[in-house]
Amino acid sequence: MSERVIPLVDQRHTGFRTPAAALSTDQLIQPNGLLTDTLGRPLSDLRISVTDRCNFRCSYCMPKEIFDKDYAYLPQSALLSFEEITRVAKVFVAHGVKKLRLTGGEPLLRKNLEVLIGQLSALRTVDGQPLDITLTTNGSLLARKAHALKAAGLKRVTVSLDGLDDEVFRRMNDVDFPVRDVLEGIAAAREAGLGPIKVNMVVKRGTNEHEILPMARHFRGTGTVLRFIEYMDVGATNGWRMDEVMPSAEVVQHIQSELPLVQLEPSAPGETAERWGYADANGHHDPALGEIGVISSVTQAFCRDCNRARLSTEGKLFLCLFAENGYDLRSLIRQPPEGQDGDALLASAIGHIWQGRGDRYSELRATLSPDTGTGGRRVEMSYIGG
Ligand code: SAM
Ligand code: SF4
Ligand code: SF4
Repeated sequence: MSERVIPLVDQRHTGFRTPAAALSTDQLIQPNGLLTDTLGRPLSDLRISVTDRCNFRCSYCMPKEIFDKDYAYLPQSALLSFEEITRVAKVFVAHGVKKLRLTGGEPLLRKNLEVLIGQLSALRTVDGQPLDITLTTNGSLLARKAHALKAAGLKRVTVSLDGLDDEVFRRMNDVDFPVRDVLEGIAAAREAGLGPIKVNMVVKRGTNEHEILPMARHFRGTGTVLRFIEYMDVGATNGWRMDEVMPSAEVVQHIQSELPLVQLEPSAPGETAERWGYADANGHHDPALGEIGVISSVTQAFCRDCNRARLSTEGKLFLCLFAENGYDLRSLIRQPPEGQDGDALLASAIGHIWQGRGDRYSELRATLSPDTGTGGRRVEMSYIGG
């Protein structure tokens, strides 16, 4: 029995707001692909959580003591259907979204996900371009599904893997899942053409920092981009402590001690990862050796360029990974006010909500209580999507 007492406030069914202006037909906002928020940030990236369930119990995300057999996951009827997701995504795309990331929970647990991918890949950006559609997965079902996902129109995958040592990894996923099967999933994704593949490793001090170098050695020169993520204070159940965060600067320094790195330019505005390339004997980046990324959500906030919106499994719009409340889009889709065009209203609501956005939690974190941030009432990452 764990002695840890974890405050759990279920934010899923409470506190959802939809601003009055968002529903006003006098001030309808029509999408023109140029939406910006109060800080001038465009809306170009939508993360869609397709399930709140997962077959892993990573302690930093879905600790076993909370997400046990009695945990009340969302009922099937609460989930947005594929048609509803596609309809909402289409409106976001009209507002300027170019990139869609499917996530969860574990997205590959959602039945027939490739059908959704097929529907989403038929959408076009405001410039008439295909969307960049990607997926974040724990890799457990990837070996089985990679080809079908690619055939449906998925472009790339990001696979999470927290170490190569089987004992460490089995302990971190807390369901005794072996490293070998995730590596097979990565190999299948590569073979299916779902590249360039990214691998996400959450670094938790005292748990897996000794896996940093083995992971770097393993993926160096393979074309797979390994990204180290600072352990974040998301949700309210993971018992986050600052002393378990290993700052990215330390990760880079640790790798540099054996494998020289040079800093690279960001690949796109709003890019979350800082890029470092493996250097050749002359200290220049050697593309054949590839690169790593570090995501410093805790020690170096990147809110200034944050262009990401999140759609939860039940159709709530969240403006920040650390938000406490979401906006209910599902009721707008399922029960639009009588006599009104649901899609026009949805587009206008999204427009108003994004125009009013001022979220920048990571920038403000330092001014909040050091261990609990806003007080631990935030939604869980498994619900909102990473
Ligand atoms: N189940 C899939 C997976 O693990 O890739 C997708 C959902 S998961 C919530 C998305 C990403 O969030 C994963 O890469 C995971 O490692 C990361 N993540 C979850 N909890 C985190 C935390 N507390 N700090 C940093 N990253 C976290
Ligand atoms: Fe599941 Fe991903 Fe969360 Fe791990 S990080 S518990 S794999 S949703
Ligand atoms: Fe974006 Fe919120 Fe993360 Fe800042 S803290 S980068 S606003 S999701």
